[in-house]
Amino acid sequence: MANIDRALVIGAGIGGLSAATALRQAGIAVDVVEKSPTNRVLGVGIFQPANALRALHSIGLAEACIAAGWPYAGVRLCDAEGTAHGFLPFGSRLEGMPANSLIQRPTLQRILTDAATDAGAALIFGTVVDDLVDDGNGVDVTFSNGERRRYDIVIGFDGIRSQLRRYVAGDAHQPGYTGYVAWRVPLPRSVDVTEPAMFYGPRVKAMLMPTSPEAMYMGAVTEEPEGVTFDRSSLRDALVERLALFSGPIAEVRDALPDDADVSAYPLETLLLPAPWHRGRVVLGGDAAHVCTPHQAQGAAMAVEDAVVLAELLAGDGDLDKALTSYAERRQPRCAFVVQASVGIARMEMDTVQMNAAVAAGAAAGSSKLSEALSAPI
Ligand SMILES: Cc1cc2nc3c(=O)[nH]c(=O)nc-3n(C[C@H](O)[C@H](O)[C@H](O)COP(=O)(O)OP(=O)(O)OC[C@H]3O[C@@H](n4cnc5c(N)ncnc54)[C@H](O)[C@@H]3O)c2cc1C
Repeated sequence: MANIDRALVIGAGIGGLSAATALRQAGIAVDVVEKSPTNRVLGVGIFQPANALRALHSIGLAEACIAAGWPYAGVRLCDAEGTAHGFLPFGSRLEGMPANSLIQRPTLQRILTDAATDAGAALIFGTVVDDLVDDGNGVDVTFSNGERRRYDIVIGFDGIRSQLRRYVAGDAHQPGYTGYVAWRVPLPRSVDVTEPAMFYGPRVKAMLMPTSPEAMYMGAVTEEPEGVTFDRSSLRDALVERLALFSGPIAEVRDALPDDADVSAYPLETLLLPAPWHRGRVVLGGDAAHVCTPHQAQGAAMAVEDAVVLAELLAGDGDLDKALTSYAERRQPRCAFVVQASVGIARMEMDTVQMNAAVAAGAAAGSSKLSEALSAPI
């Protein structure tokens, strides 16, 4: 064992809560510190591809996610008028799980929080780390509530704006803007929206995604200049304007959007830290170390895989530095593949000529290559 008895996880998001559960299952005492004062999360739906479900299964959580989600075999590919031109299968099933399941983000948060708490992790909300000192044998942490505690390891799953990243990797590595913004608006499900569908217009993609029998979301990806910001009150109109060229199902939903529709816009960024992902006894995982665009639905999947691999290595025999080195060596190439592929898909989808050619050539072939690569052991 790498002599880890007591761990601090920073961030109670998807990766941090998965790590807390996995570490507790390995017999390690865990505190999780979260800056948000509550467990409430924003976000609509999270696709859980087969490799995400496999990682969740290894900590006993896939079944609850599948039961609370909506499993899908694939997505319909349509033009801006709504005519379907192809069907993209979601790839291979693993260990008897569905190829993909779409779960509402708050439901996933509840499942992960309950699991971490039931496993014995202590969750501390509304608190951040003010200071940490790694003396080589342990890390002394001072929290914003004034408490001081000592840990054998500090694990940063503190998301895309990670503060711990600077401590581990310096200032050189920051997320870079891709040129794309993702839009999301949760809505009651229309009866005819029964499976995921994507609609490709010139330099804009739209989608309709059912997340439960009662709910769905409309999404879009648009090209926007760097630094673009939207006033919250103008988001609905900005989305309607960007979807102006669509007819068919997207136009129906667009034209019925209520004035108070809860529209969100996320500038899409990417990041890939080179290995190692640790400095001394402080290590990173999830979006703190790598950020992809949502085009393969792999960001959360990679965070859960990081959590599972890290817990396995921390529970194993041997030296801590070697365990942390081998963690990044195992994870970095796979995350690099996901980051690069997600940006490649984002670019292709913005170009209708390329996209039509891909659909005609059987986008399924490309998709199965990606999912085959991701079904490799982690
Ligand atoms: C529009 C969009 C759609 C997406 N769809 C999918 C999808 O379908 N499937 C998928 O797999 N992925 C998807 N993703 C990506 C996914 O949401 C992220 O990759 C995933 O949430 C990363 O998990 P994480 O634990 O690293 O970070 P997060 O889940 O972001 O959690 C980080 C946590 O750390 C907390 N925190 C931050 N700083 C501090 C601090 N200093 N101290 C304490 N706490 C702190 C935050 O409040 C947060 O709770 C999508 C992303 C976007 C933008």
